[in-house]
Parts: sequence; structure tokens; C-alpha cells
Amino acid sequence: MTEEYLLLNGLKIDPVIFTQGFVPGCDVNICTGECCDWGVYVDLNFRNIIMHHSDEITNVMDDGQIKEPDKWFEKEINKDSDFPAGYSVSTSIYITSGGKEQCVFKDKNNFCSIQNAATKAGMHKWEIKPKYCILYPLTIEKEILTYDKIHSRRLNYCGVHKKENFTQSVFEAMQEELIFVLGKDGYDFLKDHYEKKYK
Ligand code: SF4
Repeated sequence: MTEEYLLLNGLKIDPVIFTQGFVPGCDVNICTGECCDWGVYVDLNFRNIIMHHSDEITNVMDDGQIKEPDKWFEKEINKDSDFPAGYSVSTSIYITSGGKEQCVFKDKNNFCSIQNAATKAGMHKWEIKPKYCILYPLTIEKEILTYDKIHSRRLNYCGVHKKENFTQSVFEAMQEELIFVLGKDGYDFLKDHYEKKYK
């Protein structure tokens, strides 16, 4: 029998987030930020927020990255109810000098130029970062907060098939991210459930 979803302010919570294993933490020195190699879908209105900071972002990019903001996003706009605007757009992919494909915002050290720009400008590190980048390995699909198993299958360190690397649950690993996205009250609600049922 499938366990029922928890409900949090209209968002359904898939209990898989409490049981799925994960690595000790995201560490680009180990994984090279592989999860960024396919780019990410962004809310159409959030694209404008990123573009508003194009100067700051360009300033932290390395010489191999694409510094023309009009090339940062794909032209195709997708109807998508998972985003507040009702539409999403994908970040572009570029080929590094080493011949590797990755998100246009991923730099040669495997860090995100959007996050670097925010930190340098004195903002919160995630203030202008796409929500789905913050959340990964979690995702929100059709108003369900769940584990992104499909993307995870492509990843060689933290992927769903890499059980030997797991030391904790996805929920435990994602404390800071969940507080940022759901708020402290939302996180505490989930933590209370987790401790009663899974610890
Ligand atoms: S926007 Fe940044 S965090 Fe998101 S996929 Fe691109 S490089 Fe990775």
C-alpha cells in the first residue's frame, strides 16, 4: 500500500523524501556538480530577475562561459503549471573548452555563477538562484514535493543507484534548503512527522 501524502499549505509531501537515501552532502569536489550538466527549467518571470542581475553574473563568469545574456536561456517557452507564472524556460547548455556540455551558468570550478554573483553582491546566496536548483535532489511536480528519481539516475555519485554512498535520508540532507523554500514552520512540521514516524 502506498503511504498517503502529507499536506502542507496546499503542497503534497511525498513520503519518499523521508526514506530515500542520500550522500553526506553535496560536494562538487567529489561529484563535479554533475546535476547541473543538463541545465534547469526556470519560471518565466524569474528569468527577468536573473537578467536584472546580468552585469553581476557576467562579472563572476570565467572566460570559457557565455557572457552574452541573450544566450543564457532557450527561446522556447513551455506551458507549465509547476511554475507560478504558468510558463517555464530552460537555461542554455554550452560546451566547455574541455568538450563537456553543462549549464550556461556553471563555471570551470563547477560552481554556479548566479550563486557566486549573489554572494558577491551581498545578497542571500540563493536569492536569485532558480528554485529547482536549490531543491535538487528534491523537486515539485504537479504540486507534490518529491524525490527527483529521473534526474538522479543520471548521476554517478548521489544517484538513486549509488546506495553504497548513502549515509542519511534526503530529508536530513536538505534541512537548509527546505527551510529556505518552505519556511521554518513548514520545515518544523515535516521534521516533527519525520521524528515520530521514521526515527
Ligand atoms: S543555474 Fe546554477 S545551480 Fe542551476 S543548473 Fe545552472 S549552474 Fe547549476
